[in-house]
Amino acid sequence: MHLPHILAYFSDLVAVTAGRVVAETANLPITELSIDSRSKTLTPFPLFFAMVGINHNGHDYITEAYNKGIRQFVVNHSCNYSIIETYNDVNILAVTDTLEALHQFITFYRSKYRLPLLGITGSNGKTTVKEWMHEWLSRKYKTVSNPHSYNSQVGVPLAVSLLQPDHEYGVFEAGISQTGEMEKLARLIQPTHGLLTNIGPAHSQGFQNITQKIEEKLKLFTSCSTIYYCKDHPLIDLTLAQLYGKVLVNWSFHNPTADYLVTCKRLANQTTLQITRSTKSNTFVTPFQDSASIENITHCLVYLLDNGFDPAQLQRSLLQLKAIPMRMTLKAGIHRCQIIDDTYTNDIVSLRIALDFMKQQQLTKQTVILSDMLQCATPDHHLYQELAILLAKYAIDRLIGIGPVISHYSPLFSMSKTIFFNSVEAFIAEKPSFKDETILVKGARSFRLERVVQTIEKNTHGTILEIDMHAIRHNLSYFRRQLKVGTKIMAMVKASTYGSSSSSFELASALQRHSVEYLGVAYMDEGICLRKKGITLPIMVMKPTDDHFDAILNYHLEPEIYSLALLDELAAFISERSIQPIPIHLKLETGMHRLGITERELDQLIRQLQHMPCLHVVSIFSHLAASQTDVHDSYTCLQVEKFIQMTEYIEKHLSINPLKHILNTNGILRFPQFQFDMVRIGIGLHGVGVAPTIRPYLLPASTLKTTISQVKSIQKGDSIGYDRKAIATQAMTIATIPIGYADGFSRSFGCGKGRVIIQGHACPIIGNVCMDMAMVDVTGITVKLGDEVIIFSAAHSIDLLAEQLGTISYELLTQIGPRIKRIYYT
Ligand SMILES: *Cc1c(COP(=O)(O)O)cnc(C)c1O
Repeated sequence: MHLPHILAYFSDLVAVTAGRVVAETANLPITELSIDSRSKTLTPFPLFFAMVGINHNGHDYITEAYNKGIRQFVVNHSCNYSIIETYNDVNILAVTDTLEALHQFITFYRSKYRLPLLGITGSNGKTTVKEWMHEWLSRKYKTVSNPHSYNSQVGVPLAVSLLQPDHEYGVFEAGISQTGEMEKLARLIQPTHGLLTNIGPAHSQGFQNITQKIEEKLKLFTSCSTIYYCKDHPLIDLTLAQLYGKVLVNWSFHNPTADYLVTCKRLANQTTLQITRSTKSNTFVTPFQDSASIENITHCLVYLLDNGFDPAQLQRSLLQLKAIPMRMTLKAGIHRCQIIDDTYTNDIVSLRIALDFMKQQQLTKQTVILSDMLQCATPDHHLYQELAILLAKYAIDRLIGIGPVISHYSPLFSMSKTIFFNSVEAFIAEKPSFKDETILVKGARSFRLERVVQTIEKNTHGTILEIDMHAIRHNLSYFRRQLKVGTKIMAMVKASTYGSSSSSFELASALQRHSVEYLGVAYMDEGICLRKKGITLPIMVMKPTDDHFDAILNYHLEPEIYSLALLDELAAFISERSIQPIPIHLKLETGMHRLGITERELDQLIRQLQHMPCLHVVSIFSHLAASQTDVHDSYTCLQVEKFIQMTEYIEKHLSINPLKHILNTNGILRFPQFQFDMVRIGIGLHGVGVAPTIRPYLLPASTLKTTISQVKSIQKGDSIGYDRKAIATQAMTIATIPIGYADGFSRSFGCGKGRVIIQGHACPIIGNVCMDMAMVDVTGITVKLGDEVIIFSAAHSIDLLAEQLGTISYELLTQIGPRIKRIYYT
């Protein structure tokens, strides 16, 4: 058995942090770090850092960690850790700030290593550049880098803890959101070389201005000898030129004074890049065409050329670079399966992240499809032994191995069901069956396991709605930062979560993991569906109906009470069936004039509730009619005033103190003084529907796209589509796309009003939109069958589209039809 690497000993930890030893059983080694009690530990001596976040306190999970076998803890001395103090087999270090202690420990750990290490930062592209750089460097060196985008104050130390003595090269990215953070990341990473991708408006709220943001990012490079960057951004160029004592290596698309001059030619389906340094010139060809990818590739190529990599070899591997899915994607599979598609990498670290993700899915049966692992630096028998232990820890039900090497080691795997194939072709020929399970597909790129995914993916027509869960998390934490400490969040996941889902489950499940306090749905069915799939958060139902009252008891759903009649009906039902009081939410009418109990009804309400011990008022709320519109701000304030008066009256007469809430997305952004105990966020989680000044801080989460089904040339005078609404005024090229009004692609997009994006061009919809299809004018662009067509995305805002069509993003999102496949990027 090969021994786990020892990061340090408990005594080292004590020496480098200014902590107090509360308990010590022995000077144990430390073999891995853990900050999440839900993740498995793989080595014998993990160390648990109890981290304190806004909505999460690791000290609450200490017992869970202990029960999982963890015996070493770093705790915050002002928090409660008395439970583990009573055990006599633990090491406990108490510090003032566990995050700081984590940083001190990893800074110490990093200092033990001497190796070339590239540090990457910037606003966009850093994860892509890091992944690609890792790809390229790994062909020559044993390379370590951040798994996925572990680039934060917590992610970076965890990533650096993966550094081991046999690593020959490191590539780490660093991401920050405010001043003061980069210095800490710089000490953790201690890069020898630096690369700045670019600076954009993203994450700007923590900075005074763009220069401050650049200066802050450059702090990553304090320990670097050489810094790489693109000269085409004047402010970056200027700021870097003022740095003292660094070698600067830059490139440009047009400035001949740059060290590397890059000429970029876009052809029909590839791009050529000619990279020239003084008299030496190399030409590269890549299938990528979008400018973000071209910029990212150029960063990599310039760095590698400058560090002596062979251009011919670079060209060969350039053709194998894969764009997305760098992130795991969750897809619907055949026979009610769920597929986690992670066919980009296959190494132990990323496998473990994928397994953690798999464990969070609610389908109980779990299958892993895995190719050979191609990690040349570790001998095969060690690697596969390690793999077998990992899979056993995660207690998966079935392993399907693909490739000669994993097949050779088949006896190592202990799960009840295993099948091995020598190749993907053999798998496809045999077609193993799948039903009601979560399937993780993960493999080394050369195996091209996407072919496996294709055979088990549910087929729909070529239109998909992608939901970027990273964006949702980003938006959630943006809103959380707007709240005063202790304010709860109710996430509104009604209307299938603003269209993002055929049920609301995927989003609800992610929100549950990210500790929102409440969910809100419109109908009982939606609540029942969430419960059946394992959502345990409290769920408020806004339109409870009497034919479904039993679900309140059976599924623990919490009804909104918006009228006295509803209150009566519910009380009658509950008092006969339940001894426990059930939670209800009172909705007050304050000016929306939709649903709600009015001021005149309050006395009656109070009398009724006094005789209904079976109902327990957990919250009182109301809804703003015009939170987004500043001309109505005085009306909004009147609504809030009325809400306060009515609530105080109820509270006084019933002697209760329930949660109070009135703000929706734009209310939160515009009226921070009215947060009360809770806020209700809907559209904002999706990164849209907010004022233009807020848009740069949010990430739009949804991309609706399809592919071209047919391309045809038509003559001058030909008509297009139903009712011959469009007549060609010249010879034209028309592309047909498989999305129509039955999918929510409204008829008002038709006849030139709406545009879709093909290869970066905004192409008008021509003629009437049909039920399942629409036609696009692509005259002058070279397109082919299967080309991607974007209807909206982060870059092509749904808010602008809604404005053009005279509607709102709420409507466009919720209209997206159920037959469009949803894919979730994590
Ligand atoms: C939908 C809804 C919300 C959320 O509104 P957004 O503007 O999408 O944030 C809040 N409260 C109630 C009662 C709602 O129906």
